[in-house]
Amino acid sequence: MTQAFPQHFLIIDDDEVDRIALKRRLRAMAPKAAITEAASPLDGLKELENPSIECVMIDYDMPFCNGVSLVNSIRHTPATRHLPVIMITGTDEVAVAVEAIQQGADEFLSKADVNETTLGWAIHSALNRSELRREAASREAALRSFAFHAAHDLKSPLNGIVGLANVLQHTMDSLPAEARPFLAKIEEQGRHMASLIDNLLAFADTEQSPAEFEPVDLTAAAQQAASLLDADIREAGAHVTISDLPKTRGHAAQLERVFTNLIQNAIKYRTDAAPQIAISAEALGDQVRVDVRDNGIGVPDHLRERIFNPLDRGDADDDAGHGLGLSIVKRIIETHGGRIWCQPAPEGGSVFSFTLILLREA
Ligand code: ADP
Repeated sequence: MTQAFPQHFLIIDDDEVDRIALKRRLRAMAPKAAITEAASPLDGLKELENPSIECVMIDYDMPFCNGVSLVNSIRHTPATRHLPVIMITGTDEVAVAVEAIQQGADEFLSKADVNETTLGWAIHSALNRSELRREAASREAALRSFAFHAAHDLKSPLNGIVGLANVLQHTMDSLPAEARPFLAKIEEQGRHMASLIDNLLAFADTEQSPAEFEPVDLTAAAQQAASLLDADIREAGAHVTISDLPKTRGHAAQLERVFTNLIQNAIKYRTDAAPQIAISAEALGDQVRVDVRDNGIGVPDHLRERIFNPLDRGDADDDAGHGLGLSIVKRIIETHGGRIWCQPAPEGGSVFSFTLILLREA
């Protein structure tokens, strides 16, 4: 893929000497390109509001916020999420490079290695990656919209079939007795399919723009989820404890859905013992980790990553689900800038943990 060389660079680096050196190199490569400088991450974020910026170079090591958090924030802001970003560092440590790439940098260069050849290569590679990301996002959006509309259109004829099967069963006295179980089966399968469609609609509808985020009290979201599930909790004899959870920025209804799905699963995948579900949180710098712990059947090692894939039910082969709940949860957490994983609980059962950005009270 050949890309036009960027015509507007943004350099974010607190060290003026390094900024000047990088600027000189870029000038030599693209004499007409505009080069904007920012001496702090905050200034960098302000400059990023300029839509003409086509490539960003970020110093890894800056006071108050390292370059990696800045990349993370660029990737979670709709206007900048596809921008090519090159991380420039004072070290050539592999661990730093891996961290930078994992958080969304396209390329990584150590300051000692910067010359016109390496810089040119890094810029082209970053442009290619950014183009691939853009294409993947547009394909995903098209697919999501197709899934949403297809699921939506399937719902009304299906409701008709389920409704008619129900009417036939309950109103037709002349119906042969042996036909009734078949009608009951049609109704049951229809309801199962309707719930699959509801899940598909939810799956296709989880993309939220951070621009729509608002402060969310996670304690209230977890409590609301538990109260929605009150009947299931009572029926299973479950006990849910919710510790003091902090606030985050996000989409309240979707974060509530995260708790609903995780509590529902903790009840669904229980042992013979009454479900004990504990929801707690721990602050980790500018993030919070929320743990939802249960005493259920646990998730075998080899399924621990797979269960977050759409339609993957691990070892479960009953009719109790569709394998979409955790993929919806994962998508919601990721659109909030966090990640989710599952570990065995020390006393048996599982701990589902996810991270979110901590909202600091002013
Ligand atoms: P569903 O529950 O509809 O099958 P999910 O995506 O919510 O779909 O979960 C995927 C699979 O992960 C489940 O089928 C089950 O095998 C496993 N699983 C999820 N939550 C738990 C849990 N708390 N304990 C044990 N296994 C779980």
